Amino acid sequence: MALLKKLWYDPVGSKVLAAGIVAVLAALLTYILELWPVFASFLITTYSFLRASTPVYNWLIGLVIVLIGLALRGFVAGHRKGGKGTLIIDYTSDEFFGVCWRWRIDEGMPHGIGHLHSLCPKCRYQILPRETMELRVSQWIVNFECQDCGYKGETQAGMWREVEQRVILKIQRNLRERLNL
Ligand SMILES: [Zn+2]
Repeated sequence: MALLKKLWYDPVGSKVLAAGIVAVLAALLTYILELWPVFASFLITTYSFLRASTPVYNWLIGLVIVLIGLALRGFVAGHRKGGKGTLIIDYTSDEFFGVCWRWRIDEGMPHGIGHLHSLCPKCRYQILPRETMELRVSQWIVNFECQDCGYKGETQAGMWREVEQRVILKIQRNLRERLNL
C-alpha cells in the first residue's frame, strides 16, 4: 500500500496508475460489449492526452497501457479456452459406417448431442440416410448413398432411429475416453 501511495503522489507514477485503472475498466467494459475497436480508439485518446501533458515519459505510459491491454486480452482468451471444456467442444466430427458425421455439443438435448448429420467422405456432399425395408429378410436397413458422386457407406441393419442411436452412443463413448471418465 505504501508503494501504491508513493506512486499515486509521484507525478509520473500517478499517471501510470490512472492509465492502468482506465485501461482495466475499458478492457472489462469492452470485453462485455465485445467492442475492441472502441477500446482501441479509447487507448489512442488516452495516449494523446498523456502525450500532451508529459512529453518525457509518454512512451513509457503508452507501453504500460499496451502491456496491460495485451495481458488482459491473453487472460480473457485463456479463460475462454482451457480446462476440460475444450476437449468436448473440439470433438464435433468423426467417421462411422464409412461416412463422416458432424454434430454440435448441445446441453439442451437429452444425450447432449445436437444437429447430427452425415457427409460424403469423398465429396463432402450431405448424405441423407435412407431407411428401407429389405423384403428378402423382412428387415429394416439404412443406406448411406451420396446423391452427388454415388459413394456408398456401410449399410446398417435397423431403422434410422436405431442407427442414429448407435452413432450417438459411439460419440458419447469417444467423449468419455477423451475426458477420462
Ligand atoms: Zn459424394
